[in-house]
Amino acid sequence: MLKDYRLYVLTLLLYCLPNTLYALTPTLILTDKITSIALMPYADILEDPTGQLTLKAVTSGTDDFHPPLNIKKPQALDMGFTQSAFWFRIKITNQSKKTDWYLLHAGGLSRQVQIYLQSDDISQPAIELALMAHTRGMISNFYSPEHHSHSLYFRIQDKQTPLFISPNLTHVSSLLKWVMADYPLYSFVLGGLLVLALYNFIYFLYLRDRGFLALSCFIVAFVLEIGNHAGVLFYYTFFPEYLRSVGSLFAFIAIISAMSLLYHWLNIPKNLPQWKTPLIVAFVISVGLAIVTPFFPYSVAIAGLWASYLLLVGLIIIINFYQKGLRLPLSMVLAILVFCISIIPSLLRGAGFISDIGLLTNITFLTLLIALVLLSLTQAEQVRHKAQQAERIAAISRSKDEFLTTMSHELRTPMNAVVGAGNLLKLTALSADQQALVSRLNISSQHMLSLINDILDLARVDSNLLRMESIPFSLDTILQQLEQLVIGAIHKHHLQLTLNNQFNPIKKQLLGDPTRLQQILLNLLSNAIKFTKEGSISLTVIPEAVSDNRVTLRLEVRDSGIGISAEQQQTLFKPFSQADNSTSREYGGSGLGLAISHKLVQQMDGELNVTSTLAQGSCFFFTLNFPLQETLVETNSTTASPMLSKTALTNLQILLVDDDEMNRFFGAKLFKAIGVQVETADSGEQAILCLQTQRFDLVFMDVSMPGIDGYETTRRIRAEDHFSDLPIIALTAHAIAGIRERCLAAGMDDYLTKPFDVEQLEKMVQQWMRKAVSENQRLDSKP
Ligand code: ADP
Repeated sequence: MLKDYRLYVLTLLLYCLPNTLYALTPTLILTDKITSIALMPYADILEDPTGQLTLKAVTSGTDDFHPPLNIKKPQALDMGFTQSAFWFRIKITNQSKKTDWYLLHAGGLSRQVQIYLQSDDISQPAIELALMAHTRGMISNFYSPEHHSHSLYFRIQDKQTPLFISPNLTHVSSLLKWVMADYPLYSFVLGGLLVLALYNFIYFLYLRDRGFLALSCFIVAFVLEIGNHAGVLFYYTFFPEYLRSVGSLFAFIAIISAMSLLYHWLNIPKNLPQWKTPLIVAFVISVGLAIVTPFFPYSVAIAGLWASYLLLVGLIIIINFYQKGLRLPLSMVLAILVFCISIIPSLLRGAGFISDIGLLTNITFLTLLIALVLLSLTQAEQVRHKAQQAERIAAISRSKDEFLTTMSHELRTPMNAVVGAGNLLKLTALSADQQALVSRLNISSQHMLSLINDILDLARVDSNLLRMESIPFSLDTILQQLEQLVIGAIHKHHLQLTLNNQFNPIKKQLLGDPTRLQQILLNLLSNAIKFTKEGSISLTVIPEAVSDNRVTLRLEVRDSGIGISAEQQQTLFKPFSQADNSTSREYGGSGLGLAISHKLVQQMDGELNVTSTLAQGSCFFFTLNFPLQETLVETNSTTASPMLSKTALTNLQILLVDDDEMNRFFGAKLFKAIGVQVETADSGEQAILCLQTQRFDLVFMDVSMPGIDGYETTRRIRAEDHFSDLPIIALTAHAIAGIRERCLAAGMDDYLTKPFDVEQLEKMVQQWMRKAVSENQRLDSKP
């Protein structure tokens, strides 16, 4: 019986236990001593998994509330990630004289909060308290008269971040203290970060270095993200509603910016190419996540986990970087360390691993400011260093360019004289022996000249000093000129030449560098002729892809000559390489032509290749892509006008301007040889003087002269109206790209590369004089 009695009591006790516990939740008695108090120990809780319950529903069924059971710290409740809404009820009796109270509640924008106040007279409806923004969340103010009792109902829901709830009730006096401590800190940190972001952005606009842009994006995005979740942005932004709807977009923008920074700073493609693809994949995933984040719950957790993972990968990459013997500036290492230390607690909190730590936000913000100041300074230092390096490289390249230009001038000028003398000698009456000697002199001097050209060209392509032109040209014209250049040698060797151009666009021209293209093809054709004893040589142009404004052409030079062995083909495009040493003895040559051609094709974004069989022949080929341009219809075509007669030429007055005595001497002789009258001037000043005292039909102007050079002299001549139509031809020793534009820009009409021979000179004079004659006729025929 006794046993039964005990069982009844035990059952009764067990049955009563929970109710007894609920009943234990105390009412909060506000006394004069209290200025600020944590509300959690006084709160009853009601979980609403649907999030649908209304105030009316929760106030009518009061029994559903119970004390929170999993409180680790009495003043806070950590619910982790949850989609449920939670209602809290706190009973308050004001026994103090203080009437002005504030309910403070920290938390980010994703948190939805409603607060209701019910007076002890339950016939009165509960009122909803207005929410005001504050530095770390929201506050609501209510009036509590002395000796009054209230029930505070507090609804909270957060679908994005872990739910950490720690409301406080604070009297206005204590609130002021809190405000005084918080505002300067946040204003200082946020203002500082804003200035840093601006500083980096202005530097980006100024220097166009992507590192500054990435850093500035990173700072803005990071501040928005952290500020959003810490509740700071409630107060500091004007558009909290908008921020609420973007999920963790800013976190992903910060992640993307940080990855770009790492990629940029470590120069991944160059230093750690194995990380290039993984980083690009991570980059694409981050962009994808940034796009979908507004539509997913728990986006903060995803961003936190993804950022933690990438932070780990980043650290491994930096370790790899050091393993390769590379080093980052010390200030950057320090900045990265400080940054990692400051960010790790926030990442762990965002991913829901740890509970909220007091002062976490303050510490994160302060250390972040320090780390970002360091990073910005390092970025600036790196860019300064890079700029200095680039300036040094540019200076070296400039002096190399100047050296090559001088060498080109100095070597070609005497050669000009030698070739000129040879050409003139050829025109005089000579005995058979003398003719043979002159012919050898001419061949040797031409050979010497082409060697000088090759060496200078190779030096330029090796130092990347060669600029490619982009001017309209006709492929047919190039092929015709090539034919003229090699036809003599073809006949001499009893070979056959086939030129086959399968690309004949109507009214379209190619855009590119015709001089260099011709140089490549001439080199290949000359080799083909040189190494073919009998048979044929062909130059074929095959269009591989044609669109309205572009064409891809395959150009091949084929011969039936001695061929090149597979082994010899390996080193063929290296400078000074000849298939075998006996070649140079038997055929001559420097072994530079193919190396130069190979580099030139490369500069045109193509690749020179060869297929060859010993004793059967070789085929050199390359593919180039050219833009196409409409051909301008020439109204005053010079080709139609007839050649000037000998008498017409005799009447022509030519002014030859050159500072070099030898060049003037041979130049004048060549002009006389074609039958024109020539005067010489040894400087720009003298040329201008001559033009003022005498009438000239054509001026040949050396470009590099001491004092005022050819360009400046031309500009001064052109400045006078009556010389606007006077044809001025530049004489230049530099066969380099860009010279044509320079000459045209200075007001010259054409240019001739020294040394030139009688034929070239006559062609130039004929061309410009015929143009002048037909222009005059056209003007005369106008009414
Ligand atoms: P060079 O002809 O002045 O010696 P290149 O660079 O033009 O210099 O050619 C290098 C070498 O490649 C030549 O010496 C020759 O051995 C080989 N070679 C070039 N073109 C041909 C060809 N069409 N047939 C056979 N051998 C060739």
